[in-house]
Amino acid sequence: MTELTSLTISDALELMRAGDISARELTEAHLQRIEALDPALGAYLTVTDDLARQQAAAADAARAAGDERPLLGIPIALKDVLSTRGIETTCGSRILKGYEPIYDATVVTRLREAGAVLLGKLNMDEFAMGSSTENSAYFPTRNPWNLERVPGGSSGGSAAAVAANMALATLGTDTGGSIRQPASFCGVSAIKPSYGRVSRYGLIAYGSSFDQAGPFARTVEDLARTLGVIAGHDPLDSTSMPSAAPDYVAGLAGDVRGLRIGLPREYFAEGLQPEVETAVRAAAAHLESLGAEVRELSFEHADYCLPAYYIIAMAEASANLARYDGVRFGARVEGADLIDSYKKTRGAGFGEEVKRRIMLGTYTLSAGYYDAYYGKAQAARTLIRGDFDAMFAGVDALLAPVAPTTAFKFGEVTRDPMRMILADVLTISANLAGICGLSLPCGFDAGGLPIGMQLLGAPFTEERLLRLGAAFQRATDWHLRTPDLAHS
Ligand code: GLN
Repeated sequence: MTELTSLTISDALELMRAGDISARELTEAHLQRIEALDPALGAYLTVTDDLARQQAAAADAARAAGDERPLLGIPIALKDVLSTRGIETTCGSRILKGYEPIYDATVVTRLREAGAVLLGKLNMDEFAMGSSTENSAYFPTRNPWNLERVPGGSSGGSAAAVAANMALATLGTDTGGSIRQPASFCGVSAIKPSYGRVSRYGLIAYGSSFDQAGPFARTVEDLARTLGVIAGHDPLDSTSMPSAAPDYVAGLAGDVRGLRIGLPREYFAEGLQPEVETAVRAAAAHLESLGAEVRELSFEHADYCLPAYYIIAMAEASANLARYDGVRFGARVEGADLIDSYKKTRGAGFGEEVKRRIMLGTYTLSAGYYDAYYGKAQAARTLIRGDFDAMFAGVDALLAPVAPTTAFKFGEVTRDPMRMILADVLTISANLAGICGLSLPCGFDAGGLPIGMQLLGAPFTEERLLRLGAAFQRATDWHLRTPDLAHS
């Protein structure tokens, strides 16, 4: 039975089609594993076991009647930032304790329509602010490879659930790296789509000009299957690209010979853990041996990324989080009058990091500082976008490490918010420019912790990134390694 939880989506679909396993067995195996392992890991905030059993039974009945929907009977789970109708959605925050949305996010609707089975909602940094999942208002998530290490963040639950075989695929969101970095820390595959590729409707907003939802899975092929279901135009999101998504699975077969890959020098600079650099350079050599052309290039304004991102993200967050006032959503603390109720609700409901960001964001948007900070950051963002246009004029994809180090220990970086911010230096540029990024396992450090690499592509070139990733996974087995959880 334990074998059922280590299947890929492709294998599980094959076995269900052949009648060798049922969606009910597959779902039951996952629910049992969650029950056995999750008390130690903390990936799930909510397990929707009754719903999962119902959906699995319905999937089996549908398949018996000839239904062949793309994710029929596949157990998945969702970061708790995604709205689920009638299912508590907290965004990792106390302020949304007890909040049950009255509608599904578009990505949730699409997964349901594709026949997926929902196992539950996953832990995250409060309002997706953080890089370690230590900012969850509920409990930390542990890294399945080493329980004393963080799983990364903010989608730590989404990465840990896949790494520990507690879901065949999950969704997370990436505002400045929150899909790619936890995937890298937990040794799983994941993709941050281009801005506008996947609908943000029902994704609880942090930085609206950055946020994108995307899948985590064990293989690139499984990512292609899941992304194909959630991507495409949505009239409910005015920033969604008005075009259909290509068939990502069909695109995987192609050759990578002749594809040009750039290594930005600035992303192999000082501060990189030597084992990370070695592993990513070895992956570059591997891609070269498959016929790709690898060259170094320069990312001129790389230094502007951190300040530009944190100014704009906090400004957007301060506006987005104004709506949590105890009147419209979730928790409420009564005060002497309305203003006092707002203050008490927000004072008790938001954690330290969220408050810090609301204050900084409000500051950079205030009269007198707007031009000096927010305006400047937007100008820098334009330069960064221009750099990527220039780089992609000469290469088909960029290759870089995802994070400067492997997973750190609890408390080690959290004590110093500035250090936590520096950990995002390699991922936030993709969100500033709206480009897509695929995170893949490419090695381990001496302590047995996974190392991840990212392939970055021009807007709406997910198909090519996935093709490169699939070729890499056909030739390597980093993605097939699994943590030993028997003794945890
Ligand atoms: N760590 C970054 C931040 O805290 C990115 C988070 C994310 O992508 N949601 O803003």
